[in-house]
Amino acid sequence: MSEILVVGGGAAGMMAAIIAAENRHSVTLIEKNEKLGKKLFITGKGRCNITNACEKEELFRNVVTNPKFMYSAFNAFSSEDTVSFFEVLGLKTKTERGKRVFPASDRSSDVIKALEKRLKALGVKILLNAVVTDIIIESGSCRGVVTDGGILKADKVIVATGGKSYPLTGSTGDGYRFAKKAGHLVTEPLPGLAPLKIKEDHPKRMQGLSLKNVVVRFFEKNGKKVYEDFGEMLFTHFGVSGPVILSAESILLKKLAKEEMRLTIDFKPALDDKKLDNRLIRELEVSPKREFKSVLKTLLPSSAVPVFIDILRADPDKKACEIPGSLRKETVKLLKNFPLTVTGTGGFDEAVITIGGVDVKQIDPATMGSRLCKDLFFVGEVLDTDALTGGFNLQIAWSSAYVCAKNIGENK
Ligand SMILES: Cc1cc2nc3c(=O)[nH]c(=O)nc-3n(C[C@H](O)[C@H](O)[C@H](O)COP(=O)(O)OP(=O)(O)OC[C@H]3O[C@@H](n4cnc5c(N)ncnc54)[C@H](O)[C@@H]3O)c2cc1C
Repeated sequence: MSEILVVGGGAAGMMAAIIAAENRHSVTLIEKNEKLGKKLFITGKGRCNITNACEKEELFRNVVTNPKFMYSAFNAFSSEDTVSFFEVLGLKTKTERGKRVFPASDRSSDVIKALEKRLKALGVKILLNAVVTDIIIESGSCRGVVTDGGILKADKVIVATGGKSYPLTGSTGDGYRFAKKAGHLVTEPLPGLAPLKIKEDHPKRMQGLSLKNVVVRFFEKNGKKVYEDFGEMLFTHFGVSGPVILSAESILLKKLAKEEMRLTIDFKPALDDKKLDNRLIRELEVSPKREFKSVLKTLLPSSAVPVFIDILRADPDKKACEIPGSLRKETVKLLKNFPLTVTGTGGFDEAVITIGGVDVKQIDPATMGSRLCKDLFFVGEVLDTDALTGGFNLQIAWSSAYVCAKNIGENK
């Protein structure tokens, strides 16, 4: 039995503490906030998408950075295991569109409560309002941590401090400092799954409008298409957000840091140009006295209509029978290729995850142990591995924490 300190009471930290305690280690969980799981509480818009009930291959496909590193961890603790783990703790779950798994109650607080109950039942010592400021390394081994309340000695230390996104939840990148002290390389942390800033004021004018089935396409300055996706998006006060945009941001992050990109939205992906033109002709012919703005309303959400009219420089009150063919063709073009200029990403305050972190080449994937410093471990988002939306990032946290805590006694 070892004395284990877990730094950070988020998803990964709580899982690591539970599994280590189940394996008869004496565990102390240290959290800087006044309560556990502050970020977990806001996940999935307060509903917490705990995992994705997909096949293992799909799980790997959704991991964007270093999927191979997660091989042992996902094999040791799969998304199926996550569901069983929570069901055993008494948390009923349900699977929604896209195989996203949520608590049946739709409350992230129930996920936190289930974890807290188990921690207490296992006798894990929980220190709240305690900030770890440093790790103690002696003769190449991690021997404990320094907190704002004093020194805590241990046989092993698990760092589960998360990344840098949504810093108000407590994830302020402290773990990177601890890793560097032990000699680890840290890949530059960047905001991932973040909304995009747009040069034009069209998003602001359509703020709050959510589009369900659209195709987004991203182009480099030279006109080369570099990304395409289908799904849901949202207009915000400064740009665009929603699932397809967040995924695009994570994948195009490096390009977006270098240059402005062109984004086009296809409002009518089910219809090609010809079919859409025929549809518009029908709408114009069916009531020739109808105003252009009313015709547009048959094809678009109301809040998008004034924006379309301005871009087309059209008279909103012009009668359908007076609409020239050129305006009709321009309208079709705009519906299929609504153009926006992406100037950058929302930054850490709005990023769902951090891309980058502790370089996985210096971490043993079977134990999450440091290859440079004995008895030091890293789990969860602090590591340089990340995934798309859909419950995959929490699965990284659960699996990496599990494989670490389960095998922690094996680490030499
Ligand atoms: C708005 C939002 C919604 C999300 N929704 C989902 C979702 O539905 N599904 C999904 O899979 N993923 C989601 N994510 C991502 C997911 O929340 C993270 O990937 C996951 O929480 C990472 O877990 P972690 O334990 O590694 O880090 P965190 O959850 O960030 O936990 C780290 C903990 O360490 C503590 N800590 C940090 N430094 C110190 C220190 N020096 N001393 C003591 N304590 C410290 C922090 O206070 C924090 O409690 C979402 C993220 C956000 C921001």
